[in-house]
Amino acid sequence: MEKAKKIWMDGKLVDWDDAKVHVLTHSLHYGSAIFEGIRCYKTPNGPAIFRLNDHIKRFFNSAKIYFMPIPYTQQEIYNAIKQTVKVNGLQECYIRPISYYGYGEVKLDSLQSKVDVAIAAFPFVSFLGKKNQEKGVRCKISSWIRITSIILPPQAKASGNYANSLLADIEARKAGYDEAIFENINGYIAEGPGENIFVVRDGKLITPAPSAGILCGIVRDSVMKIARDMGYEVTERDIPREELFIADEAFFTGTAAEITPIVEVDNRTIGNGKRGPITGKIQKKFFGIVRGEDSDHHNWLDFVR
Ligand code: PMP
Repeated sequence: MEKAKKIWMDGKLVDWDDAKVHVLTHSLHYGSAIFEGIRCYKTPNGPAIFRLNDHIKRFFNSAKIYFMPIPYTQQEIYNAIKQTVKVNGLQECYIRPISYYGYGEVKLDSLQSKVDVAIAAFPFVSFLGKKNQEKGVRCKISSWIRITSIILPPQAKASGNYANSLLADIEARKAGYDEAIFENINGYIAEGPGENIFVVRDGKLITPAPSAGILCGIVRDSVMKIARDMGYEVTERDIPREELFIADEAFFTGTAAEITPIVEVDNRTIGNGKRGPITGKIQKKFFGIVRGEDSDHHNWLDFVR
């Protein structure tokens, strides 16, 4: 990864190479951290963070689910994120706030543990590959089932959840695919290891509902709003595996993945095997908004300066 200059750690700006934690940090052992992934885009009016307040809200909701008292207000985290982007002089970056139980106790019980917060901002271009935003990705339905609310809460962006994601991701890549797709415990499509999923059938968009066991993605929400603004019908409902095979188009959404077309699932070609026309139109609108070239009537851009 490309380094930046400073990382915000509990109120202090620390040099990148000195931003370290003790090996007995609670969250390292028990997956008990909660975090966010946020993007800042270069616009003609300077760097703009995409839906910053919505990410901060989700950060605090994840903490609430885990009884983790973040020792800062939402406003303080908001200011700290902007300060971190600014001090690193970044025009375009990925922002990673993380709240974790730090060093002090090694026992599982976290209720007495100290909560630490760090915020990193660094250059980050692509996740599933820049060229795949046009070309699309080949996916495999995972043999791993997505976590479900009675096992681990999918709506919390908690580090422990990503052990499930990691297993699916490794399986798919070892089998020669670009990405995995999870089904939920009821056998319906849930999401990717780090992305939400949409299918397009007969000019309409369909995406799994929160009850399918997904992280309620901020790009997912943005795409639903953009699609409705463009006059497309969007439905949240169960999607069986075979409906993905016979979809006209399919795509992933996520902060890291942005909008990435899915062109193959379990060796079945989706549509004509190329980025679909509706996916292309939504992608164009999304990038127009985040890059400050299109009207931001939802007020999603939060300018750093
Ligand atoms: N699902 C999972 C499991 C994720 O990790 C992510 C990435 N945060 C998403 C969905 C997409 O969420 P967002 O659009 O807020 O990045």
